[in-house]
Amino acid sequence: MRNFLDRLGYKLSELMYGRYGVDAFTSFLVVVALVAMFVEILVPSGFLSLASLALLVYAFWRTCSKNASGRAAENRRYEELVRKTKAQVNLMYKRWKNRKTTVYFKCKGCGQVLSVPKGKGTLRVVCPKCRTEVRKKS
Ligand SMILES: [Zn+2]
Repeated sequence: MRNFLDRLGYKLSELMYGRYGVDAFTSFLVVVALVAMFVEILVPSGFLSLASLALLVYAFWRTCSKNASGRAAENRRYEELVRKTKAQVNLMYKRWKNRKTTVYFKCKGCGQVLSVPKGKGTLRVVCPKCRTEVRKKS
């Protein structure tokens, strides 16, 4: 039995040699597919089971792909999207937490979110990113 498992492991590693493997984007696709399957069980529609099957096939195809640079580029785009989304959620949380003490606004030059304390009159603000000067009533 042990010999059989050793040979199976060897054959599997031989099969996956040169293939891309699992990354964060593939894991995300599998999780979304599992959630869709679970929702399909609760609210049967037929569409979600097809969508989850398609996601699983796509995840499997990515794992077995030999185009590692293409898959890595997809994974980088996915991770960049996750990073931007997390940054936006953190900013929303910070704005909500400090809403009584701080005024948030966007720089007219570059779109960077800036903040000034509330109740300090009109302040001169210089954007740290693009050096645009703004007068802001706080
Ligand atoms: Zn700026």
